[in-house]
Amino acid sequence: MPKTFLITGGAGFIGSAVVRELIANTDHSVVNVDKLTYAGNLESLEEVADSPRYAFIHADICDAPAMHRAFAEHRPDVVMHLAAESHVDRSIDAPAEFIQTNVVGTSVLLEAARGYWKALQESDPEKAAGFRFHHVSTDEVYGDLGECEERGVRSEGQSGEEKPLASEALTPHTSQARSALTSPQGAHKPAGRSLFTEETPYAPSSPYSASKAGSDYLVRAWQRTFGLPTLLTNCSNNYGPYQFPEKLIPLMILNALAGKPLPVYGDGQQVRDWLYVEDHARALIKVATEGRVGETYNIGGHNEKANLEVVEAICEILDELVLDEGRGVRSEENNPSQAKRLPLTPHRELITFVADRPGHDRRYAIDAGKIERELGWVPQETFETGLRKTVEWYLDNREWW
Ligand code: NAD
Repeated sequence: MPKTFLITGGAGFIGSAVVRELIANTDHSVVNVDKLTYAGNLESLEEVADSPRYAFIHADICDAPAMHRAFAEHRPDVVMHLAAESHVDRSIDAPAEFIQTNVVGTSVLLEAARGYWKALQESDPEKAAGFRFHHVSTDEVYGDLGECEERGVRSEGQSGEEKPLASEALTPHTSQARSALTSPQGAHKPAGRSLFTEETPYAPSSPYSASKAGSDYLVRAWQRTFGLPTLLTNCSNNYGPYQFPEKLIPLMILNALAGKPLPVYGDGQQVRDWLYVEDHARALIKVATEGRVGETYNIGGHNEKANLEVVEAICEILDELVLDEGRGVRSEENNPSQAKRLPLTPHRELITFVADRPGHDRRYAIDAGKIERELGWVPQETFETGLRKTVEWYLDNREWW
């Protein structure tokens, strides 16, 4: 049965992937509510803009009357809330906007959803019974996995087991670990490592993750206190096409193409789990339509990589595509028409270590077993296939960036 999704932040990186997936591969309709901050770009939605199943509302989620109007006019079956300030470095420079959008904005949206849902219970009980509020969050709310281990947090199915400390738990540079960690099905998850589960206590480190943790708590409170039918997902780092080039992977690709330094924080050994954005979009739609009300689902790719390893992998792909095959142009201007070709040195020579980010967490890693078992979701891309697609997309879509 086709549903109407009200998606906040649909012009952003992940939101636009969800909107494209819903319009291209389902019968559902989308109302996209977005303020169009620096991170929102309607060009990411060009392929769906003319669909009769797509509508756009230019609005701030902190604007209560605008949110109430959006619900009344579009009568959604599902709210998928992605609008947020999302960049950790910006949250350290200027936290206020993060509190405003991520915490206050979420509370405004929850109240608009609650008012709409209450009215729906009178006017259309069947529609009210199917209504869902799905909040999209991050694994960063769990904090630093190394510290979790020191606090004695155990991963699912590992109670009582001896577990290595984070520093010795993962050896991403060994070929054995590499193959074990890149399985899309997670069939070869190495035993004995601790991972974030849905029960891991929150311990956010940055203003960004603290503001997201605050919004998660609000969603849980609206479920428990008011009975609002909510769903919550916490996902690891996303990468893929249409990501604003302030985040690690697009920043490195664009800097490398411009022959600029590739800045790596600290020793580059901070470990993150990486998920291709289209896999995340498919997971979100599955949770929103099939997830159990009130539940939290962790989403991840079983692709744990040290940041330096990610940057080196990008350099390898660029060496092959740009230096060996002559695809794209490596130029100072990043603009093929004014290209002043740079010397063909290997891209990894551009890697430059810079002072570490304050409060930088060492390791995040997700146990995505619950969504795999309950909803049958598995990622389709490995890190290798997804990263290659991503680099190729940035080479082929210079107008977008
Ligand atoms: P993004 O920064 O690319 O996009 C955010 C979008 O929200 C933009 O379109 C922006 O215009 C919009 N927006 C910001 N403030 C708004 C406001 N006040 N009102 C309405 N719209 C507003 O973010 P993203 O990377 O696509 O992340 C989307 C969501 O997923 C966020 O909630 C983020 O916390 C979460 N998340 C992101 C990642 C990741 O790796 N990017 C991982 C896990 C979870």
